[in-house]
Amino acid sequence: MRDGFSVCEIQSKTIANESKIPDVELVVNPYVGCQHGCSYRYAKFMMRFTGHAFDKWGKHVDVKINAPEILEKQLDSMRKRQRVPVLLSSVTDAYQPVERRFEITRKCIQRLSNHSFPISVLTKSNLVRRNLDIISGNPKSEVGMTTITLD
Ligand code: SF4
Repeated sequence: MRDGFSVCEIQSKTIANESKIPDVELVVNPYVGCQHGCSYRYAKFMMRFTGHAFDKWGKHVDVKINAPEILEKQLDSMRKRQRVPVLLSSVTDAYQPVERRFEITRKCIQRLSNHSFPISVLTKSNLVRRNLDIISGNPKSEVGMTTITLD
């Protein structure tokens, strides 16, 4: 723990999940929680369901350490599925600072690309630039940057 921030490595059972977001069929969330800690964040509710009900939003992140391997198995079972874009991410920022160390997102998008699934990234972090080698080689993939204002 540093400056009140803590990181845990966890095992995940699934990583590519069906989405309820309009026009998004599949979503991958490599982390639980988000270091950016935006105060307006609707995903704060996630903490209640992940054993962090008493942690302050932005001060704790779970790393789905086995996500790349689980994703590989899921993708193997999706051979006949249409190659729809996969969103990273819906309830975390896949390129928050912990990604610099763990590279879970990088390993996941490499596997998605290997299986010809387009990638749709939504992030606040320029760390995504480190993965442009993979994303730019994956047709129909896109990167969206989100910004915040006081109004
Ligand atoms: S960057 Fe996105 S996922 Fe992270 S706290 Fe802000 S709104 Fe939530």
